[in-house]
Formats: sequence, C-alpha cells, structure tokens
Amino acid sequence: MKTLVLRVDPRNPDPEKIVAAARRLKEGGLVAFPTETVYGLGADALNPKAVLSLFEAKKRPLDNPPIVHIGEPGEIDRLAVEVPPEAERLVERFWPGPLTLVLKRSPSVPSVTTCGLDTIALRMPKHAVALALIRGGGTPVAAPSANLAGRPSPTTAEHVLQDLDGRIDLILDAGPTAVGVESTVLDLTVRPPQILRPGGTPREALEEVLGEVVFHPSVLAEREVEVERAKSPGMKHRHYAPSAEMWVVEGEPEAVKEKLSELAEELRRGGKKVGILATEETLSRCRAEVSASLGRREEPREAARRLFGALRELEAKGVEVILAEGVPLRGLGVAVTDRLRKASGYRIIKAGKG
Ligand code: AMP
Ligand code: MG
Repeated sequence: MKTLVLRVDPRNPDPEKIVAAARRLKEGGLVAFPTETVYGLGADALNPKAVLSLFEAKKRPLDNPPIVHIGEPGEIDRLAVEVPPEAERLVERFWPGPLTLVLKRSPSVPSVTTCGLDTIALRMPKHAVALALIRGGGTPVAAPSANLAGRPSPTTAEHVLQDLDGRIDLILDAGPTAVGVESTVLDLTVRPPQILRPGGTPREALEEVLGEVVFHPSVLAEREVEVERAKSPGMKHRHYAPSAEMWVVEGEPEAVKEKLSELAEELRRGGKKVGILATEETLSRCRAEVSASLGRREEPREAARRLFGALRELEAKGVEVILAEGVPLRGLGVAVTDRLRKASGYRIIKAGKG
C-alpha cells in the first residue's frame, strides 16, 4: 500500500483534501490526522472491518480500545447511555479539547470498537483539520495515536511516516501538534471520577468543575501495576518506548544534575553512546555529547510539547542509552512524568535522597 501525504493548512484546510480524506474513511480506509494533542490514526468507528484493520496497521493488541472522536458534543447521546450530569458540565468547559470521557457504551457501537467493554471513550478534538474530517465523514472516528503500538506518540506527520509508511492510506499533514501529549482519560462510570491516564487537561482543572477527582493507581506508577481487565486495558501494555534503553532521574534539580553527569560519565567510560533529555537549566550545566531539551523547568507545557519528538530525535542519533530528567509534578508535568516513567520501563532513579 502506498501512503499518500496531503499537506493542509492547520486552521483553514483545503475542502477538497478533506473531502478526499473523509471519503477514504467512509470506504473503510485508514487516515492519519492532526489533533491538538498528537496525530491520530482514524477509522470509521461504526465499521468493524475498518476498526480491525486499524489494530493491524498499528500492531495494537486487540484488548486496548481506541478513543472515539466526535465532531459535535451531541454525538455523545448516540454512542453512550446513562450519561451522568457531570459529563455535560465537563463538555461545556473542556470540549473541544484534550479530555476523553469514559461512559457506558450504547449497544449501537460495534463491540470491536470498544474491545468488548461495556464502556466507550469519547472525545471532541480541538483542531480544525480533525473536526473537518470527522464532520466530513459524517461518522464517529476511532483514532488511537498514529504510531506503532508501544512507540513514542507522533507529534508530526514525519513521525507518523516513520512508523506507518506503507501501512495506512493517507496522512493529513498540518505541522506539529500544539499540546504534545495525549488527552486526559477520565472515567465517569465510577465515583469519584477517576483519571485513567493523565494528559492535556490537568487534574486541577477537572477538580474546579467536579470537586474530588482521583488518579488510578497506574498513573505516575513507579512500577508495573496489576490492572483488572475491565478498567483501562491499555495500561498493561508497554508504552511510549524509544528503541534505546532509558532511565529517568528524579529529585531536586541540583542532585539530578549531579546524578545525570555521574551516570553519563560512567556509561561513556563503558563505551556506550549516551543521550541526555533534560531541562534547559540542567543541560546548560551538564556535559553531554548528545542531548535534547525539554524547555525551561518552570514550563511543563513546553516539556509536553517537546517530549515525544525529543525521544525520537535521540533515537535517530543512535544513542544506546537515554538519561532523562524528571519534571515537576505540576499541570502538564504530571502527564510528562507519567510518560517518562512508562517510556523508561520504570527504570527510575531518585537522586539526592538516601
Ligand atoms: P490511544 O487511543 O492510543 O490514545 O489510547 C487510548 C487510551 O484510552 C488507552 O489508554 C485506552 O486503554 C483508553 N481507553 C479507551 N477506551 C476505554 C474504555 N472504554 N475504558 C477505559 N479506557 C479506555
Ligand atoms: Mg497511543
């Protein structure tokens, strides 16, 4: 299969290209498209064959359901049942945007789309191209991230090509995505509402609307967590991992800098090619042959935007080990830290203490 790349303006996409992409979707094809979080790989959510081919193209395990993307808030009522009043308040405040709601699914949704669960994950993305495509297709779009399962998520069309060239029909290329990490996945079928995956909408913002919101134990986990199947199956699979071995060093900035330098030196002496992924402040004081920046330490949004691209960049430079600096657990820093820990396969080092 030849993968076609169509460049589109991120704010004002060419209607002809959108029509062509929407037609591919309706015919059962696979179309990668930008959202404000990362690039998604879309299939018609109501077409079981198309959804199956989506899992195949990504090599995604069949027990990890995609998020279903919709073009209007009203679509919720077509795809979900017993929608609690909280959903309406969240939609009002955060949609379109990086918040996914887990609700009871309607029987009209094919069971392959939800991997047999009795719940469905729904989101309305905040991106002109994504919305034009979904509305143009006139059908909800199942869209996990447009990467091979387990790899860092794609924040550019180039990343999508790296993983999926020849495996999908079409990519709408509208340049780099704004948020850089995936949406927050919030389970509204439990009380209090539970964050299954931290992402582009911080917990603090959700609490302003809902009161108490809790993290599922897998969020920010420091080791593999046993997850009951019914919960969020995606949690049990390896995620975001670059090809290089990766370690995350967390703690006070000074201690982290010391530890990173020490580890880098040790590895280099052992003949390893090392890449450091850290904040500007740390990089400016830490000798590194190969490095990538997470931006300034006080800017978690910048770290989120840069994270996945930086992992792919280090990998492309052929490093064998990535040493990453943990970022403060504020705002999007929670999502970034969660990704770093999982990408490292929980190789976490606490600097300074003990
Ligand atoms: P992705 O589509 O790659 O961004 O990943 C979607 C995330 O949403 C994964 O972590 C899934 O496990 C999660 N998810 C999708 N559907 C459900 C659901 N019905 N219940 C809980 N989590 C879900
Ligand atoms: Mg994904």
